[in-house]
Amino acid sequence: MTDTLIQGRTGPWEIVLGLEVHAQVASRAKLFSGAAVGFGAGPNAQVSTVDAGFPGMLPVLNRFCVEQAVKTGLGLNAQIHRTSRFDRKNYFYPDLPQGYQISQLYHPIVGEGALEVERDDGSTFTVGIERLHLEQDAGKSIHDMDPHSTYVDLNRSGTALMEIVSRPDMRSAEDAAAYVRTLRTLLRALGTCDGDMEKGNLRADVNVSVRRPGEGLGTRCEIKNVNSFRFIMQAIEYEARRQVEILEDGGKITQETRLFDPGRGETRSMRSKEEAHDYRYFPDPDLLPLVLEEAWIEEIRASLPELPAARRRRFAEQYGLTAYDAGVLTAEDERAAYFERAAGGRNAKLVANWTVNDLLGRLSAEDRGIAESPIPPETLGELVGLIEEGTISSKIAKTVFEKLWAGEGSAREVVEREGLVQVSDTGALEAAVDKLIAANPDKAEAVKSKPQAIGWFVGQVMKETGGKANPAVVNALLRARLGID
Ligand code: MN
Repeated sequence: MTDTLIQGRTGPWEIVLGLEVHAQVASRAKLFSGAAVGFGAGPNAQVSTVDAGFPGMLPVLNRFCVEQAVKTGLGLNAQIHRTSRFDRKNYFYPDLPQGYQISQLYHPIVGEGALEVERDDGSTFTVGIERLHLEQDAGKSIHDMDPHSTYVDLNRSGTALMEIVSRPDMRSAEDAAAYVRTLRTLLRALGTCDGDMEKGNLRADVNVSVRRPGEGLGTRCEIKNVNSFRFIMQAIEYEARRQVEILEDGGKITQETRLFDPGRGETRSMRSKEEAHDYRYFPDPDLLPLVLEEAWIEEIRASLPELPAARRRRFAEQYGLTAYDAGVLTAEDERAAYFERAAGGRNAKLVANWTVNDLLGRLSAEDRGIAESPIPPETLGELVGLIEEGTISSKIAKTVFEKLWAGEGSAREVVEREGLVQVSDTGALEAAVDKLIAANPDKAEAVKSKPQAIGWFVGQVMKETGGKANPAVVNALLRARLGID
């Protein structure tokens, strides 16, 4: 763990964080009905009688959703429970027409697992997974459409969620964000959740408590439904400070559920924390226990793709990349595929530099993903190939990159058409070097006692040739002419 203690008036405090992530299953139908799932449909257009809680309607479990939960469990190196069951969690809310949520309290489908999380600096830590269970989402109450009324949209009602509960294994806001980022990358690689936080398809409940280093767990507060990395970090920082101030003033933390207000950057009390018994959980009599066959689990295991952590390690080893570059390039399947196509048979480190710094930098500045790159992977690879073989300098390559971005042809075509080929021909460069030395006899004399001043001469030749001279050749020529070894 990195040193992330909070310095209070009375000494240091440690933050303890556990997360409950709700991940919407990437399914086209709901968990217990055949109604469609989709973002942007008209209000109440995707609601079956089951989702609307009509009396006498019976839920039918969606096999695809179960498969995604098992897949995710396997990706988390977790126990898959051969038998699980569904419970009713009873509460009243206008956007919950059934009067209960079907969830899995006592016997979740997935048990204990672990996720290896990598920080930006390449160091890693492990977060224990307590469980993953399947449950329905509620509908939405819309309070801001009318000054006098609240509207209810049930399109989301009954949508399948995987609730992934971590152990309180994180000690800083950065580590909590890194955990969610790693989890999102895993879910996307598995294809079990699209991880779109803006649409609310991945949202986190953050449990925050503080304690003196070495002491037992303090009382925690739960911050509900935080849906961006930035908000997760801001909410934690604010909440931990709030708790430290209360404790240092001699107060006590009340266990409660809080909301994060992004506009004010603060958390505020929403309701006192309910206990499981407040919800009168009981097994849903409409649903039989869910029993999985070992053979089916093994079939799913055999179908798993290469997981992000394994791919990150492979990229670092096979291509000799830094932990950072390997992390960036494996954060999305499309990026990894792009890089591997561009790197085929080339200097992979150089391809990684161009992909991470130039291409991804440019794409993110324009808020585009790599799938929308105007430069195909083969073209970027070709550009790096031209640098490798000495046809163009790295500096000229930047100019070529701009033209490739504008869609002006292949790398070789651009270089030939624009006459950008690097001049390595000694004869052609000799004349320029001699002329320069003749015109600057004092500087030439000075270089003999101060060899690092040769940079000025190299710069002048580069300027003279419009950046096309091969700097290594120019350097060698100058050294020979000026008598430096
Ligand atoms: Mn839940």
